[in-house]
Amino acid sequence: MRALGAAQLLGIWEQGLELSSPRRALVLLAAACPETDWGELAALPVGRRDDLLLQLREHLFGAELTLVAACPACSEQLESTLRLADLRVDAPGLPGAHMLSIGARDIVFHAPTAGDLIDLPQDPAQASMALLARCVDDLPATAGIALWSADDMETIGAAMAAADPQARTDIGLVCAACNHRWESVFDIASFLWCEIEAWAQRTLHEIHALARAYAWREQDILALSPTRRQLYLELSQP
Ligand SMILES: [Zn+2]
Repeated sequence: MRALGAAQLLGIWEQGLELSSPRRALVLLAAACPETDWGELAALPVGRRDDLLLQLREHLFGAELTLVAACPACSEQLESTLRLADLRVDAPGLPGAHMLSIGARDIVFHAPTAGDLIDLPQDPAQASMALLARCVDDLPATAGIALWSADDMETIGAAMAAADPQARTDIGLVCAACNHRWESVFDIASFLWCEIEAWAQRTLHEIHALARAYAWREQDILALSPTRRQLYLELSQP
């Protein structure tokens, strides 16, 4: 994995503005892993993709992150600090076929890949069904997922989740005000993108202020280290 420079990250942010979260994740990884082509990245199980995104996040913003959440019981705003290492599981998903028997039927499936998440329907229920249909490798084209009952679909979904534990990260939270405990799903793809978005906004403001103060070009300002940029910003204040 390659470190991304400020100019490159700003370019990726701009490119990703119009894209969906699964596409943004692949654009980020394509830039950070130039030795791996798009098709290979899209074929990675989601857990493997997320493991790479966690590595990239560490390169960009460090090994700790702060989550902000509202307590569902009393609405208190909570901040908790986590280490990225605590979000990693030991068994990243393996690409390839898995087998599951439901009654007399054998079902061959693969754990959802980074590419399977792209262009799913907006509606969550329809999206789960479409994802299931993409991931069952021997689905008869004519009958489709109409073959399965709701229980079957739940069983297949659970088998897919078990095949790739890193693909879903639940974080246990405790409210400091009312002691309520709950689990929250952590999605590194959207979390990292929000951080990149906030970073890009900050960086554009810095470029604006420095360009106005010193008449430097954008590319020269981006080539400065964050420390130097900050120092020049302070010096430029009247
Ligand atoms: Zn609470």
